[in-house]
Amino acid sequence: MSNHSDYSFFHSVEQSFDKAALFTQWESGLLEQIKACNSVYSMRFPVKMDDGRIEVIEAYRVQHSQHKSPCKGGIRFSDAVNQDEVMALASLMTYKCAIVNVPFGGGKGGIKINPRNYSVYELEKITRRYTSELVKKNFIGPGIDVPAPDYGTGEREMAWIVDTYQSLKPGEIDGAGCVTGKPVTQGGVRGRKEATGLGVFFGVREVCNMPDVMSKLGLSVGVAGKRIVVQGLGNVGYHSAKYFRENGAIVVAIAEFEGAIYNEDGLNEEAVFQHRKATGSILNFPGATNITESTKALELDCDILIPAALENVINKDNAPLIKAKIIGEAANGPLTPEADEILIKKGVLVIPDMYLNAGGVTVSYFEWLKNLSHVRYGRMEKRFTENMNTHILGQIENLTGKSVSDEERRFIMHGAEEVDLVHSGLEETMITATREIMDIWKKNPTIPDMRTAAYVCAINKVATTYTELGIFP
Ligand code: GLU
Repeated sequence: MSNHSDYSFFHSVEQSFDKAALFTQWESGLLEQIKACNSVYSMRFPVKMDDGRIEVIEAYRVQHSQHKSPCKGGIRFSDAVNQDEVMALASLMTYKCAIVNVPFGGGKGGIKINPRNYSVYELEKITRRYTSELVKKNFIGPGIDVPAPDYGTGEREMAWIVDTYQSLKPGEIDGAGCVTGKPVTQGGVRGRKEATGLGVFFGVREVCNMPDVMSKLGLSVGVAGKRIVVQGLGNVGYHSAKYFRENGAIVVAIAEFEGAIYNEDGLNEEAVFQHRKATGSILNFPGATNITESTKALELDCDILIPAALENVINKDNAPLIKAKIIGEAANGPLTPEADEILIKKGVLVIPDMYLNAGGVTVSYFEWLKNLSHVRYGRMEKRFTENMNTHILGQIENLTGKSVSDEERRFIMHGAEEVDLVHSGLEETMITATREIMDIWKKNPTIPDMRTAAYVCAINKVATTYTELGIFP
């Protein structure tokens, strides 16, 4: 959310792109094409509210790039939605998908509403009407453009979307693949909900396991013992905090709209979540200190800061006050380009959004593949693997005359279930992407920061696709 009225999020994405383009050799026309938003659909439609009033809803869907099909990206419900923001977020999706080798173009949607101000029935009507507007203009479909959850939306909205789509397109065999992030009962995949937070954890862990990077920052190797501040206790913030805590890091502060709480011994995100649900506020959590001005939490002394809320929260005003050594951008666009420059000078390592939060779209890709293949992951091989492992273990025990513990037996025999495969596919994706970006940066030390290295990685991949497609004869 912008607190500078002249701030353009799309322009700031363009600035980061231009900065990185200088480190590539691509022709300027091709770079212009990659940067531009291909299709921008701005719509207005009426919805009758519970009290009989008619409200005109403002909404968008932007397809930034069709260099690969379908386009992919979430839909957000927020009263800060505007065309500039959706264009910026759609562009980030193109670069994000390229970096993690997910074969989609970038897209994004937004409905300008604060979902808290509407009843569930009203939200359902708005979501279904939005979906039918997309169908009318051919802006949604498993091979065209595939939305997903984003800020203010979740499984419930995705279920409404798939139901509306399928009722308008009866008999379309791959129709379930028109949207991802669905409930498991409606064609969703196990592991999608926690995917972005888990991906953030895998990405930051990989960076923390790089001895040369850690020694430059004056930090020890590994995530265990690191002090973390998380901004946002939504789906992404909650799961990031959970995986850091479970892997030995200490979540010293959590921030939300109404304020932030601090406890140097660590906070349990689930207990904080329950407290907020029961009391309506994150403040006054037992054992923690209140920070009434929420944004002050960003300036706390810590090793890793995870902004997991909205864009533009670290800008030229507060960037000089940041004390974290690493910032892991779980949100899209939490830093402005001015903040980037200040933090580079301060020696802070910023792990950029468009790859760090790619866990969501990566698992969306797995969900889409599941929908197209019409079979649950693991269904064909789970039992086979378990039978084979049982046989191998039996042979080893016979030959050695020794037997393993019951716990070991369960571990060795276990055949992969859907959630195991999804988590492992995500882990592999995030590790590979982190190494690819770091290699680009190491090979060209004049690249000033990791974001620029990530953009170089994305530009090279998208430009290669365009060139190989021969779109510019
Ligand atoms: N909204 C998420 C993002 O910004 C997920 C998009 C998707 O799964 O398509 O990356």
